[in-house]
Amino acid sequence: MHKDLGIGIDVGATKIKCGVVDEQGSILATRTMESWRYTALEDNIKLLISLVKELLEGFDIRRFNSIGAGLPGTVDDARGVVVYTPNLHWNDLVLAPVLEGETGLAVRLVQDTAAAVWGEYLFGAGRGLQNVVCATVGSGIACGIIINGELYGGASHTAGEIGHIHIEDDPIECACGNTGCLEARASGRGLVKLFMRGIERGGHTELTRRLSPDQIDAPAIFAAAGAGDTFCAGVIDEMVRYLAKGLAATAVVLAPDAVIISGGLSSEEELLFKPLTRYFYHYAYRSVRSHVRLELAQLGADAPLIGASALYRARGYQGKR
Ligand SMILES: [Zn+2]
Repeated sequence: MHKDLGIGIDVGATKIKCGVVDEQGSILATRTMESWRYTALEDNIKLLISLVKELLEGFDIRRFNSIGAGLPGTVDDARGVVVYTPNLHWNDLVLAPVLEGETGLAVRLVQDTAAAVWGEYLFGAGRGLQNVVCATVGSGIACGIIINGELYGGASHTAGEIGHIHIEDDPIECACGNTGCLEARASGRGLVKLFMRGIERGGHTELTRRLSPDQIDAPAIFAAAGAGDTFCAGVIDEMVRYLAKGLAATAVVLAPDAVIISGGLSSEEELLFKPLTRYFYHYAYRSVRSHVRLELAQLGADAPLIGASALYRARGYQGKR
């Protein structure tokens, strides 16, 4: 029987979504759970396994190629271990062998950004290209990398952590413990940091009268800017310029066919993607300007799930167990 299906698992800090995906990248069925539905990690893993089994039972098991999972942190695919996930708190977790034992299918693990770029490369904005970078811009920022049609993880399986490029000598702190990181500016969390710094320096916005400091997040700042708040528009402009610098530098190093922008904030087309395009080509090196396409992602929030389901097609990544 032709194996035309895969299971993709997108593990996020707050929820886990798994789904059955066909060879064209279409999602046929899904299940969702809270990442920490139970207090004990093993109970959450048991729930995840039961959801995957439910999905498998809906189809002829002989149609499945494999299971793939995208995780928000460092994984060791060769051993099937989730090494370190700062926001999810799954650390040194032996996942793939357990899932393999329960389902009888091979299981691959990758960083979620790698899963997302693999999805966009096979089925989305990167289709037909050989060298692709897909930057996920949400509460943080990181990118997945494809070189010559293969996922690239680097020696430490952490290639693409562009959020921690040192981009400025100033005291804005990053979640990683360093200061001056791209992510502390060019992400949702970074935007809030720039906003707070602007207020400390005497900036005025009606947002601080309407919302308490802990209610001010990136969507609120974008909404205010869209409604004509010039302070918020200025802070977003600063964030977008940093993002453009980080991506232009990434494009100089990797010389991809395309840089794809995905993640929660990429839907802000007028306030983020359009000015980002302008700044990106302004900062970019000559060859980047003439060769690199800056594109919006096409798979939306399902890119990691869809990409993870098709990891069996990524031969060179981290090697097989
Ligand atoms: Zn950092």
